[in-house]
Amino acid sequence: MRFEREIPVKYSVDVCIVGGGPAGCAAAVTAARAGAKVFLAEAGGCFGGLGTRGMVPAFMQFSDGVNWNADGFGREIAELHRKETGIAFSPRGKGFSIKVEVLKRIYDKLMVDAGVDFLFETRLIAAEAEEGVIKAAVFAGKSELFAVEAKYFIDCTGDGLLSVMAGAPYFKGEGKRQEMMPGTLCQLWCNIDWSRRPTGPELRAALDQAIDEGYFTDPDRHHPGIWRIGDTTGGGNIGHAYGLDGTDEKSLTDALVTQRRQLLELRNFYRERIAGYEEAEMLLTADMMGVRESRRIDCEYNLVVEDFRSRAVFADEIGRYSYPVDIHRDARNKAQYETFLKEHTEELRYGDGESYGIPYRTLLPKYTENLLVAGRCVGTDRQMQASIRVMPGCYITGQAAGMAAALAAKKDTALRALPVEELQAALCEAGAYLPNFKK
Ligand SMILES: Cc1cc2nc3c(=O)[nH]c(=O)nc-3n(C[C@H](O)[C@H](O)[C@H](O)COP(=O)(O)OP(=O)(O)OC[C@H]3O[C@@H](n4cnc5c(N)ncnc54)[C@H](O)[C@@H]3O)c2cc1C
Repeated sequence: MRFEREIPVKYSVDVCIVGGGPAGCAAAVTAARAGAKVFLAEAGGCFGGLGTRGMVPAFMQFSDGVNWNADGFGREIAELHRKETGIAFSPRGKGFSIKVEVLKRIYDKLMVDAGVDFLFETRLIAAEAEEGVIKAAVFAGKSELFAVEAKYFIDCTGDGLLSVMAGAPYFKGEGKRQEMMPGTLCQLWCNIDWSRRPTGPELRAALDQAIDEGYFTDPDRHHPGIWRIGDTTGGGNIGHAYGLDGTDEKSLTDALVTQRRQLLELRNFYRERIAGYEEAEMLLTADMMGVRESRRIDCEYNLVVEDFRSRAVFADEIGRYSYPVDIHRDARNKAQYETFLKEHTEELRYGDGESYGIPYRTLLPKYTENLLVAGRCVGTDRQMQASIRVMPGCYITGQAAGMAAALAAKKDTALRALPVEELQAALCEAGAYLPNFKK
């Protein structure tokens, strides 16, 4: 069938951003502070994406152990979060837990203060694009369908949805079956006695024993764990939805139903077998499936694992990052779980002060003109996606995309014609970590 109708243009802006996760918020606040007129649409009811709606319980590392890689917007979030929660972190730290309500309010305030026009409960459904130039993005709001016209668009949907709608090519998973990392439906736990929790090896032994005894319907050896987020509360990142395709609603629907069933088994396992959890309750699961990997947009440059190994430096780098390669493999299979352990904990992990560069070109989808991509679906191979995907990485690419769009709007220039030294200088002004940029 064909569906056609007239719809109003509700906003005409310099920069239109789709998705209000870590990348989208970084992009919007940075672009607005740099003087651009910005509109952002978010499908859910709050900012933060997987870190709030998805109830991911912790930030991974902002630093390489010496330098703040996610400096500028990322560091601002970390500082504001610490100020309100008292949750300590240090530049050498490897991450810290998230107080979700605090984080939601931090994003709200930063977006309002920066003067970003934004709408929640508003979903991108189409893009009007011709020969790689996006004229308008079409949204389904609560009240009606409407369009947003903009000079530049930034895709922060996590799945590269706007890029695909605009005609950009992409990669998905690995091999013929396009195998992607499993998802996880994160959880909020209460009534945990943290003083009695077992050590990591003790928990591991209890899990292995339960698997060997046939305790679980769907045994899974990879168990990221439950993070302490309060005196008796915990944020769970346990259970895996194998075979998930986060770009397909049927796959997501099946995974949500299966995960809720599996999580009941995990809750029973903790209560019956793990010290400190006897009275614990799994209060709530997220209303957004935790998707680790979906599309990777094919960009002017796609980071490859050799760049990780060589601690690559690029003339057009817009940031540097250092999180290890963290591909959750099919841990129903013991050998694959061991591959994950080797890769993540030994081979593709840096020492203090080491990092890889992220070129501006990884934000420029091929065959498009006025589009940038930021967040977990920027141009990478599969292994690099598994490093850059964590939230501080998304702050780095979001901040750079927002600054690039704002500068391009100011200079009335094409994104590919933007003098990269000007972008780097503006990013340095905003606090970004660019040690290889010499003014
Ligand atoms: C289970 C799990 C555990 C993780 N653990 C950690 C961790 O411990 N630490 C860490 O730092 N990172 C972790 N990550 C990774 C990290 O949370 C994500 O990769 C990161 O949030 C991606 O940011 P993003 O902005 O690219 O996308 P997202 O966070 O996915 O945000 C995208 C936003 O776009 C919106 N959106 C999507 N489609 C549309 C549309 N059509 N219209 C409008 N809006 C739309 C979504 O509602 C969402 O708010 C984890 C991820 C998962 C799944």
